[in-house]
Amino acid sequence: MTARAARKNSRAAASRCSSASGAAPCAAARVRRVMAADPRTVDLRDAERIVAGGRGVGPDGFHQLEVLADLLGAAVGGSRVAVDLGWIPWERQVGQSGRAVAPELYLAFGISGASQHMVGCAAAKTLVAINRDSSAAIFRYARYGIVGDCVELLPEITRAVRGRRGS
Ligand SMILES: Cc1cc2nc3c(=O)[nH]c(=O)nc-3n(C[C@H](O)[C@H](O)[C@H](O)COP(=O)(O)OP(=O)(O)OC[C@H]3O[C@@H](n4cnc5c(N)ncnc54)[C@H](O)[C@@H]3O)c2cc1C
Repeated sequence: MTARAARKNSRAAASRCSSASGAAPCAAARVRRVMAADPRTVDLRDAERIVAGGRGVGPDGFHQLEVLADLLGAAVGGSRVAVDLGWIPWERQVGQSGRAVAPELYLAFGISGASQHMVGCAAAKTLVAINRDSSAAIFRYARYGIVGDCVELLPEITRAVRGRRGS
């Protein structure tokens, strides 16, 4: 078969695969490989791990969060305050007026635990909260809590994770 005929055949096959509604399955289509989504760009609702930050992380802290997220293969999310302050884009907001997420692990740095945030991450399997205020509401929801300053703890946790991964 000539190359031109092959192209014609393939166009004909493609047109047989698409119905008027565009919904007909193509018998010739075959899944060859399933690739894991990039945690940096994945929709937060599909993320298996999320490293989230709030006001307590501070304007420079989100860069640190990204480094930690990369090491953990996690997506970065945050509170509405973080969005309002321009630290993360709106599609990264977790909560009532943001995304409802259900990751295996949700690490919350400097987030107070307002109900409007918690409703968005209530389905997380394991919630770890880091906050310098021991009476912060988020500790009522967290499986593990660390009372401390994000500015000090973020680099320490990042170092510890890097050390364990040997990278
Ligand atoms: C209709 C409506 C819808 C809303 N929808 C959402 C929503 O979808 N998502 C959402 O998140 N919010 C939403 N909100 C806002 C919500 O009520 C809170 O204002 C918001 O979640 C607070 O964000 P935050 O925890 O980052 O900030 P804050 O409440 O200011 O808390 C910051 C926390 O960081 C801690 N902290 C400060 N510095 C440090 C430090 N150096 N180290 C460690 N901890 C520190 C503080 O102790 C505090 O607990 C909504 C509100 C309304 C009225």
